[in-house]
Amino acid sequence: MANLGFLGAPVPEKYGGAGMDYVAFMLLVEELSRGSSSVRTTVSVQTSLSETSLLWFGSEEQKKRWLVPLAKGTTFGAWALTEPQAGSDAGNLQTTARLDGDEWVLEGQKRFISNGSLADLIQVYAREPGTSRHEGISLFMVPRDAPGFKVTHVETTTKLGLRASPTADLAFERCRIPKGNLIGKRGDGWNQAMRTLNSGRIGIAAGAVGVARAALEAAVKYVKERKAFGRPIGDFQLVREMIAQSALEIDAARLLTLRAAQLRDLGLDNTLEVSMAKLYGAQMAQRVTDWAIQVHGGYGFSGDFDVERYYRDARILGLYEGTNEIQKLIIADRTLGPTTK
Ligand SMILES: Cc1cc2nc3c(=O)[nH]c(=O)nc-3n(C[C@H](O)[C@H](O)[C@H](O)COP(=O)(O)OP(=O)(O)OC[C@H]3O[C@@H](n4cnc5c(N)ncnc54)[C@H](O)[C@@H]3O)c2cc1C
Repeated sequence: MANLGFLGAPVPEKYGGAGMDYVAFMLLVEELSRGSSSVRTTVSVQTSLSETSLLWFGSEEQKKRWLVPLAKGTTFGAWALTEPQAGSDAGNLQTTARLDGDEWVLEGQKRFISNGSLADLIQVYAREPGTSRHEGISLFMVPRDAPGFKVTHVETTTKLGLRASPTADLAFERCRIPKGNLIGKRGDGWNQAMRTLNSGRIGIAAGAVGVARAALEAAVKYVKERKAFGRPIGDFQLVREMIAQSALEIDAARLLTLRAAQLRDLGLDNTLEVSMAKLYGAQMAQRVTDWAIQVHGGYGFSGDFDVERYYRDARILGLYEGTNEIQKLIIADRTLGPTTK
């Protein structure tokens, strides 16, 4: 993928990327997900989260030093916001960063970090001691050989899905990094994280379209081949209904995704459209992969067909980078205005 430029697809050529616009990039993400949601997750973390943060908030020197190798795929990145007590409520993050002379000293833990066990460079959100909620948070670059950095747990095949994408818990024990490893404005981390997640979520929506397409393609093939009552099961109206509904919902999700991507290409606010695309895509992919299993009958439940993997992989889409409920809160806020309290 590095040789093909996929690992820096949306990064401008001057920083080692392929310079794709977001609509083109989302088509690439959709195709990757059609093959493997795990591989798509790896590419999404590298591009939409790690590289986007550096592109938007990094200094020119940081871009040359870190963004170029990430975009070329010679360096591997991870992006760490979530903690044991801070998932949807990310403003409750407890990891601290204290300035000590020419170094930042990080103390705390991160949970569920995709590729955290493999990455050379980990972007870590931490707050200055004595601050709370959205204040005092900054983004730091932690190289994997930083003293005090540890991978404490890795989950691969014991997860429901995404078994080719390791998910790691990380610890920072008086972890020392140079002062210059702060990315962007000191204290602006909350704003940076929310902007970056808005970028990442379009990729999840495209990923939903890809895995659902794979499921529909498998279903179409199977219902033409499998016979019951002397006919291909694709002749039965109740089976045809599942195929029709899948085709409809995949197309609707793709159009929502591409609209969000195009707004971004045009430099327009797309927060509402991104949340709609991610929420609908996640819900759609669960339904479509479920129908793909249904038309396979008992064979869909066995490990012999890929549809069971699609079904398991689809389940994460409504959980990471903002759960379905968080997307609904954003959509309601944008439609109705904020709550009174
Ligand atoms: C495989 C995998 C990979 C991941 N990769 C990364 C990564 O690379 N980097 C990273 O930083 N994080 C990563 N995450 C973490 C992921 O983003 C969080 O798990 C997610 O944000 C949810 O947080 P939580 O698990 O703490 O659930 P919680 O926040 O505890 O949510 C539990 C439930 O409560 C609901 N809920 C919470 N608050 C509200 C509310 N205000 N209104 C209504 N409902 C609410 C949620 O929607 C959910 O249904 C990953 C997670 C997984 C499983």
